[in-house]
Amino acid sequence: MISDTPDTILETLECSFFKWRDFTLTDRIAVLQNIKNRLLEKKYDYAHAITTDMNKPIQQAIAEVEKCAYLCDYYIENAPHFLKNQEVKTGWSKSYINFRPLGVLLGVMPWNFPFWQVFRFVVPSLLTGNVFAVKHASNAPLSAKALEEVFNSDTIDFSVYKNLSIKSNEVSNVISNPIIKAVSLTGSENAGRSVAETAGRHLKKCVLELGGSNTFIVLNDADLEYAATKAVSARMQNAGQSCIAGKRFLIQEAIYEQFVDLFKQKLDTLIIGDKYDEKVTFGAMAREDLAVELEKQLLDSVAMGAKIIAGGKRNDAFFEPTLVTNVTVDMPVFKEETFGPLAAMIPFKTIENAVELSNSSNFGLGASIFTSQPEQLNDYLHLFDEGALFINEMVVSDPHLPFGGIKNSGYGRELSHFALYEFANIQTVVVK
Ligand code: NAP
Repeated sequence: MISDTPDTILETLECSFFKWRDFTLTDRIAVLQNIKNRLLEKKYDYAHAITTDMNKPIQQAIAEVEKCAYLCDYYIENAPHFLKNQEVKTGWSKSYINFRPLGVLLGVMPWNFPFWQVFRFVVPSLLTGNVFAVKHASNAPLSAKALEEVFNSDTIDFSVYKNLSIKSNEVSNVISNPIIKAVSLTGSENAGRSVAETAGRHLKKCVLELGGSNTFIVLNDADLEYAATKAVSARMQNAGQSCIAGKRFLIQEAIYEQFVDLFKQKLDTLIIGDKYDEKVTFGAMAREDLAVELEKQLLDSVAMGAKIIAGGKRNDAFFEPTLVTNVTVDMPVFKEETFGPLAAMIPFKTIENAVELSNSSNFGLGASIFTSQPEQLNDYLHLFDEGALFINEMVVSDPHLPFGGIKNSGYGRELSHFALYEFANIQTVVVK
């Protein structure tokens, strides 16, 4: 059997688009409802695929699938309001704005949340009327196959979503195909630069969700028990492989030693074991090369004077939950993104110092700040160069709120009503 080439897949998707764009929003929502139902029916199978692909403990994989269903619910409920024509008062007898699809979109997706990243890109734009070609990460093959199954509802006789089984060096060719109208990439800075360059050359829009080096800031007056619990969660969830994980921990001087101790104690509450065991909360990283890279960042920092307080050892792809102190701003564990279970802790004197340290990164995805007096932050919040600020909470993604970064963390927004407009032709209609 001759398998489909990327070009023939795009041609098929273009035919699908011509059908899908004629669906009413109500009919598209019915298809999405069906997608959501199937997702939940086969929740354990899909979670198993995620865990097998990239070692995420099964309880976190189940939670990821459930979160995708929650995202569907959000858009099923809110899209009719967000996508309705907007009348605008002008000098003409009638004028309004409507939201039209662009056509076939390309998604280039990462392995760290293999379902969630794809769902948050696809679901809103599917309701706008677009269809999707997705190049998933090469180490997420089971998830990629499962996603194609989930999105191809048996209530319609054409495909709104197809996998492109291509290598990353073939992505440029796909972007240059005239059938592709826009591209969304979630991944590393390098991949972002490459995709943006090709998209720019072909005058196609792109949304880039790239890396992050979020700060997790704790002020003297914070509830330290609570902040330390959140800190360990923010850093160690998904074995630290999250763009929005707290990576640089800025702790105010008076509580620094106490917080280091608390964080270390809470690391001991992580449950390490078989990734398919529902009790396990901490597992191996997705690939050995990623763990080796993290080890290099750690060892280079130790050579510059960093001190390992907990963890620090690697066994194949497993990297111990690690805490490092004596950190300076020029060390790899502080100035680079650490995409694994390693917390770098550094003390600061004043809130102004914390802002400065936080902004010293090339990334700008998010920061969280813990204090018992949030009002004292009022004069400072505008100084943070971040896509999101969470007070007394770790940075998370929530369908109700826009998600995305500034600086080298990329551009464009996913989630909330903004996501519906990223890949829409926002069309003006005037009647004299
Ligand atoms: P990655 O290596 O950039 O891979 C992401 C996707 O891009 C994969 O499908 C990959 O394909 C593809 N790719 C890699 N190089 C490419 C290139 N030059 N041109 C076109 N496509 C290319 O990133 P990753 O290691 O999977 O994920 C980790 C990074 O993603 C971290 O920096 C993390 O912070 C970021 N991330 C950001 C967000 C966000 O929302 N901001 C969310 C999750 C992750 P192959 O697998 O075939 O190489």
